Amino acid sequence: MWSARHDGSDREPVTESDKIVSAFGRNGGSAASREAAKAIVETAQNKNHWFFCGCRKGAILAPVNGTHVRRKTPNSAPHQDDCPFAVEPTEQIFIVKNLRPHPAATPFSLLREHTASHAGDVSRIVKESHSTRRPGLAKLLVSLAEASTIQRQGVGIPTLGEQFESLRVQARNFWLARNVPVSTMLCSDTRRYDDFIRDFDQKSRRAQFPDNIRPHGILLDTIKGVSEGSLICNDNSRRPVRGTISIFGRGDAPVKPWSTYLVAGLIGRLSSSPETCLLRAYVHPCVSSRNLMLVDSNYERGTLKIIHNLQVEYSGLIDVNVRKPLTDIGNQQICDNISDEDAAVEAERHGAPKVLVPDFILEFPQFAKGKADIIVETLGFSWPSYRDDKDVTIPAMQAALGGIAAIEHDFHFPQKEHQAQRNDRFENRLRTMIEERVRKLRS
Ligand SMILES: [Zn+2]
Repeated sequence: MWSARHDGSDREPVTESDKIVSAFGRNGGSAASREAAKAIVETAQNKNHWFFCGCRKGAILAPVNGTHVRRKTPNSAPHQDDCPFAVEPTEQIFIVKNLRPHPAATPFSLLREHTASHAGDVSRIVKESHSTRRPGLAKLLVSLAEASTIQRQGVGIPTLGEQFESLRVQARNFWLARNVPVSTMLCSDTRRYDDFIRDFDQKSRRAQFPDNIRPHGILLDTIKGVSEGSLICNDNSRRPVRGTISIFGRGDAPVKPWSTYLVAGLIGRLSSSPETCLLRAYVHPCVSSRNLMLVDSNYERGTLKIIHNLQVEYSGLIDVNVRKPLTDIGNQQICDNISDEDAAVEAERHGAPKVLVPDFILEFPQFAKGKADIIVETLGFSWPSYRDDKDVTIPAMQAALGGIAAIEHDFHFPQKEHQAQRNDRFENRLRTMIEERVRKLRS
């Protein structure tokens, strides 16, 4: 991070940038941390400087009153999703709350009779990330995925049929509405969608939705991508979605029309129309058309490939599972019905909770539960504020999981190396950690 005049002149580094991150970043915001950053903010303001975080050209923090900064100003480019300054600490509390695991016994209630009457009115595509509040359909998809075998893999990936079967089994354990398990209204094959629509009324009657919930079902399948308000199915047919299509990925990441995603689509009716249709959809990238594990980015696919190689290399010597969590592992309490005002007070007092969703966890089931686990973090960005943030969140994840080990797979540093060398460096360090565990197992 550096500070400079508004035209970029008189530039100088901010030596204690971590203080700015903890005072104004998404993980911070307490009165105490702002006090600790006060001198730095005052100095910058006296020089008529802005802070430049480096996540994107022109993304700034403008000092205000010597104690605060303003990040959303007409003068600032928007901060990148992964930048700690992309989210206000108060908003972070709601984001983390929505990233926490959904209690299996609580129905998702995705289509309430009155409040959701506008669902499906406007066709649009929005990006979801760990910087946005997770929508209900996303909670449903990640709940099924985390409970199934797809987010935890040993050596050898089960067949696609087995992976889908595991998701369908879990659909019996989660609820669309009171007494309506997801499995009773599930269409897990886009090729059978038309049959599902045809039988929709009959199925809905049998399911006996409560009065306050409009009957609805879930489409769950892989798709190739999204284009012009439609899902592009594996056979290249298109299924239009009446309302919002949410896609997990960075705001500026291209929506590839030909990749592999897992989709959860909400099937039902608008209050204003008798037609049964896809009202909205949530789309999350998966590893490949043969491997449904949900991943966040291409970088993670790269990290996973190296992990898979090591799983094979050490099979027979030690069991290694790779788990990709999708929900927050933090344990800072957040009240269920927290209001905006309460969240502001909470942030002021304690700072906002961190988003703690490890990229991967390597598990060694031959050891006491969790003891030998390793967190694997994929470092996909180079800017200093992202790194400052990781310096705080990675130790917090380790602590939340009982002080386990962590390793980073870096896609930017050391700068002088090629990526192949960085990959080797990661692979060798991880191999050393696995060998330590092999030795312990033998002793
Ligand atoms: Zn930024």
